[in-house]
Amino acid sequence: MNSRRDFLQKIGVSALMLQLGSVAFADTPNHFEQPYDGKVLRVAIMGLGGYGTRVAEAMKACTKAKLVGVISGTPSKIKEWQTKYNIPEKNCYNYENFDQVKNNKDIDAIYVITPNALHHSQVIRVAKAGKHAICEKPMALNAIEAQEMIDACKKANVKLLIGYRMHFEPHTLEVIRMRKAGEFGKIMFFQAQCGFKAGDPNQWRLNKALAGGGAMMDIGIYAINGARYMVGEEPIWVTAQETKTDSLKFKEGVDETIQFQLGFPSGAVASCLSSYNINYLDRFFMSGNNGFAEMQPSTGYGPIKGRTHKGELMQAITTHQTVQMDEMATIIFDDNKPIVPVNGEEGLKDLKIIEAIYLAAKIEKKVNLNI
Ligand code: NAD
Repeated sequence: MNSRRDFLQKIGVSALMLQLGSVAFADTPNHFEQPYDGKVLRVAIMGLGGYGTRVAEAMKACTKAKLVGVISGTPSKIKEWQTKYNIPEKNCYNYENFDQVKNNKDIDAIYVITPNALHHSQVIRVAKAGKHAICEKPMALNAIEAQEMIDACKKANVKLLIGYRMHFEPHTLEVIRMRKAGEFGKIMFFQAQCGFKAGDPNQWRLNKALAGGGAMMDIGIYAINGARYMVGEEPIWVTAQETKTDSLKFKEGVDETIQFQLGFPSGAVASCLSSYNINYLDRFFMSGNNGFAEMQPSTGYGPIKGRTHKGELMQAITTHQTVQMDEMATIIFDDNKPIVPVNGEEGLKDLKIIEAIYLAAKIEKKVNLNI
């Protein structure tokens, strides 16, 4: 650490200040804290379920983004959210009429937080209504759908961002900074274990038509995405092995546990595990010729913890969705480029890799990738 800016970056102060409702000016101590008076991203959330609720709660602490609208198929939930978040009637829609948001000047973006199979058509409708689209992961069921969503948003001249909250997480960004600075030396190996025991057998996550698959679509995607941002390369081949112990709960096309390996152009390899039937899987490990990083938890809601060969990671603990939404406001309004992209192309790459993993597991052979 050789400067105040490095120090602040290291401890993650700017992310922390964002959460405290102020903007940090690391180089101007006299103006260290200043209230935000810029443009605020006015967001409507589509899908008022578990994660939608988490995002709404986190957005209370945002300074650059604000929850102003809802889209839901359940009138009672709309009423509840109206009261809780002070949402006016004119900003409430259902799944049939939300195209009318086109005429609503008080909404800038719609955050799609519905089951995976709905993302494709809903994001395309959002684009056609001329609103920016933020879409949860996985962005679609497959690469073809993802490309159509990207094309629709380009055509409508709106932004498409994927809810990759880890791309704004301070411990994660510090490991990426260290890797870019060469502090680990040549990266040789990455390992990710991502999983939990899926409960209710009737939930949409275990329904192929709504989820598009199983654990890989939901939680394995964190291992894939993590491998890419940690190693800093795109994989050129995959191999994969599937294990199924409960074919009643995990029906045809719904993967329970998949181990997969990725190969990168530099020669680095990744070994990953995705599961809906193993608890306490939330760990990254990366080894280079000169050092290592390990994180556990690595992608859960936090607090994220980790250490490197230089010691414990001491970055700020953030509410991921608060920082994500504030950062997304700057991406949408100021064309800010995040350290790790969160655009549709980023989501498309993960889906291309998922498709290759499913294929590799099925044919029991190595599958080459060109993403
Ligand atoms: P959930 O089941 O809690 O909520 C889904 C919502 O969609 C519910 O309100 C439900 O009523 C609504 N819905 C609309 N049409 C539906 C239909 N046809 N069938 C079922 N539900 C329907 O799910 P969730 O955990 O909120 O997940 C929603 C999305 O968010 C998924 O894509 C998931 O992958 C993603 N997610 C992301 C994170 C993250 O950390 N980024 C975490 C959890 C979920």
